[in-house]
Amino acid sequence: MSRILIIGAGGVATVCAHKVCQNRDVFTEVMIASRTKSKCDALAKVLNEKYGTNVQTAQVDADSVPALVELLHSWKPVLVINLALPYQDLTIMDACLECGCNYMDTANYEPKDEAHFEYSWQWAYRERFEKAGLTAILGCGFDPGVTSVFTAYAAKHHFDAIEYLDIVDCNAGNHHKAFATNFNPEINIREITQKGLYWENGRYIETEPMEIHKPLNYPNIGPRESYLLHHEEIESLVINYPTIKRARFWMTFGQQYLTYLDVIQNIGMSRIDEVVYEAPLADATGVAKVKIVPLQFLKAVLPNPQDLGENYEGETSIGCRIRGQKDGQEHTYYVYNNCSHEAAYRETGMQGVSYTTGVPAMIGAMMFLTGKWAKPGVHNVEEFDPDPFMEQLNLQGLPWHELFDIDLEL
Ligand code: NDP
Repeated sequence: MSRILIIGAGGVATVCAHKVCQNRDVFTEVMIASRTKSKCDALAKVLNEKYGTNVQTAQVDADSVPALVELLHSWKPVLVINLALPYQDLTIMDACLECGCNYMDTANYEPKDEAHFEYSWQWAYRERFEKAGLTAILGCGFDPGVTSVFTAYAAKHHFDAIEYLDIVDCNAGNHHKAFATNFNPEINIREITQKGLYWENGRYIETEPMEIHKPLNYPNIGPRESYLLHHEEIESLVINYPTIKRARFWMTFGQQYLTYLDVIQNIGMSRIDEVVYEAPLADATGVAKVKIVPLQFLKAVLPNPQDLGENYEGETSIGCRIRGQKDGQEHTYYVYNNCSHEAAYRETGMQGVSYTTGVPAMIGAMMFLTGKWAKPGVHNVEEFDPDPFMEQLNLQGLPWHELFDIDLEL
């Protein structure tokens, strides 16, 4: 019997929950809990009607360890899949430790008041999880997640030493909105407005935001301008594969998107500090001074990423371009997945970016529950055997392809 708890009811959680319900031999009892219970109820209704399941729901404030502990004590899940926001990672890990639950997420911890993400906060839990005999799996979406598994698979099967790693993430889809983000706008805008960072010859090199860019050709898509960003999987991959001389992450953006982003930044709407806003009182007798965070306000007026699916056309293409040594010779390797937004929407009602994150989250949970990835401690996904995960990607809707000894363009 595998009883799980999914926290969050957004785009990624919706896809993950669909996939969980499609694999009922592994996931026998499921609860979805989030801040807004009505969203959990609406999702459970769709799932229970479509799959004949009995998905339960609950309200929980995942910023509160006592609230989480109460829920975990009553539902008693074996595994908690955290698909809320990176702000909640540590409170959920604390509650898991207190209640003896295993843990998994798709994004590393980020404090609310600082646009900065790194693994140190979560790696600090290693000993406590190990001592408790509990497993925590970090970063099991697509990037991080599948890209890290792709790297582990390349290291296991195709290279003696990986020397150059470029993770390339292209979204060639069109949602027909002037400006929208593909996952939580607050998290997304915080990520891409940061300085760029990459690893070279044993140290990190910082760049201005979007300073380095070049066109790259993506399979079935063609050339797209790709920008060097700081991305979290680089941090663990260069530690777990010390032969890596250079590791970079690239993401495509259209010119219109970048123009909007520039405006958002220049007019102060990406600020994450509080500003005082004079809100008119309901009875029109004056104003009340309220504190708002401009980026959170922006999120409230931007399109909801969950609503983009219906008119989304085109596909994503995410993969790893690797150069390294095998049997004393240099080789190149490109492993990637292309995912159609339309197909993702038909299956789950969500667009491809939620799909490419929610499917690996389900597979990671499956790996843990079937004993293939159960190892007490706190681990990044490349620390586990990539083979059974890669096998499931092909079966669960994210087939991958390999190209050998090609020009990597990088
Ligand atoms: P959404 O904003 O669509 O969903 C987030 C969900 O978390 C919402 O249901 C929200 O509730 C809930 N939530 C937020 N705060 C709390 C809280 N304090 N307590 C309980 N529930 C809360 O985000 P996405 O689904 O797009 O993204 C989910 C996660 O996936 C994020 O961490 C994101 O960074 C990560 N991600 C990872 C990727 C990868 O490849 N590794 C790619 C894309 C996303 P409410 O509805 O009330 O707001």
